[in-house]
Amino acid sequence: MRKVSIFGATGSIGQNTIDLIARNPSAYDVVALTGGANIAQLAHDARRLKADVAVTAYDDRLDDLRTALEGTEVQAAAGQEALIEAAKRPADWVMSAIVGSAGLAPGIAALEQGATLALANKETLVCAGPLVLETARKHGARLLPVDSEHSAVFQALVGEDMGAVERIIITASGGAFRDWPLADLANATVEQASSHPNWDMGQRITIDSASMFNKALEVIETKEFFGIHPDKIEVLVHPESIVHALVGFRDGAVLGHLGAPDMRHAIGYALHWPDRLDLPVPRLNLAALGQLRFVAPDEARYPALRLAREVMARGGLSGAVFNAAKERALDHFIARRAGFLDMADMVASVLDRFDTSDGLIDAALTLDNVLQTDHLARKWVDEAVLERAG
Ligand code: NAD
Ligand code: MG
Repeated sequence: MRKVSIFGATGSIGQNTIDLIARNPSAYDVVALTGGANIAQLAHDARRLKADVAVTAYDDRLDDLRTALEGTEVQAAAGQEALIEAAKRPADWVMSAIVGSAGLAPGIAALEQGATLALANKETLVCAGPLVLETARKHGARLLPVDSEHSAVFQALVGEDMGAVERIIITASGGAFRDWPLADLANATVEQASSHPNWDMGQRITIDSASMFNKALEVIETKEFFGIHPDKIEVLVHPESIVHALVGFRDGAVLGHLGAPDMRHAIGYALHWPDRLDLPVPRLNLAALGQLRFVAPDEARYPALRLAREVMARGGLSGAVFNAAKERALDHFIARRAGFLDMADMVASVLDRFDTSDGLIDAALTLDNVLQTDHLARKWVDEAVLERAG
């Protein structure tokens, strides 16, 4: 039996992971499941999968979790330290599906105990790519991509030599506002940004898809994961979300990965790697689809993509600044304290402030520095919002 843990088990990726595991319960020994405020879901899954421990991220929900787990052998725990403790519990395979930079520290703890880390949490690589890869190397742990584009690239690279790779093309649906006139974007609402044309995902990544901040994070994730020069990474708008990524080689050949937009493709590939096993995903019918469209992204519409290029050129802690500023700007958008286009403006101004802050740009990429920088960038966004309100 394989020992598995799922961080962010109550979310969209977490639930899809549980769907796959629950279809074959005798193959898995579930160690830890973690969640946030949805205690009922967390307890329900911990019960049926007979997890060793269930952890809520919120200290003040421990009693609720204990009550929900009464009569079972599942331990209940809460808070940041409990998350890290759960990540240290020996497991063969750990799904990293917390949303945001909150996923970084548990992911590093899982790598330190040598687990294979299935990485849905792209923020981990955006904030601390070189540190995370070095941690994995040092502890003989493996990272497997779960983001659909990166899983697609990973699959297209099987048996290939990275030296023969000319470019990596990741696709983007264009999100909720792909066909909106540019002038209307300033007034886009949270509800409008929260509906995705093709994928059913958590609210935050759905809004990030509309702004392309998600793709911006993924470009950085591509650079870090595959160790490829930023100039060799391209983004292509592909409204149907069928081709997830393409790899171009020195001989001009291009290998792509196609599949229905269902995250169980990428989760299942990481779960069963290096094998391919049956997955309960819809099968493609290209004749029924008829056509696949591809369009170059309009940088005026998606300033996040330009910011990602700047971040890759800066390196160091700028990924942590970028991600945290984006997360906090998104908090303000969701709380209706900022408009849709204000998010990119705020992130850009925080990156500028980072450039001119003594000592930060050259500081070492340690977990402590990343977490401190993350905190600082969020504070700067809050200051920018207050300034605008005042
Ligand atoms: P979600 O919002 O549906 O779920 C997030 C999970 O993280 C929940 O279990 C929640 O309780 C937990 N969580 C939230 N804040 C936390 C905190 N501060 N500390 C600890 N736990 C916390 O998110 P999702 O859509 O499943 O995305 C999860 C990750 O996977 C993100 O990094 C996202 O970018 C990535 N991803 C998601 C998809 C998708 O289809 N949903 C696709 C590719 C990548
Ligand atoms: Mg993706």
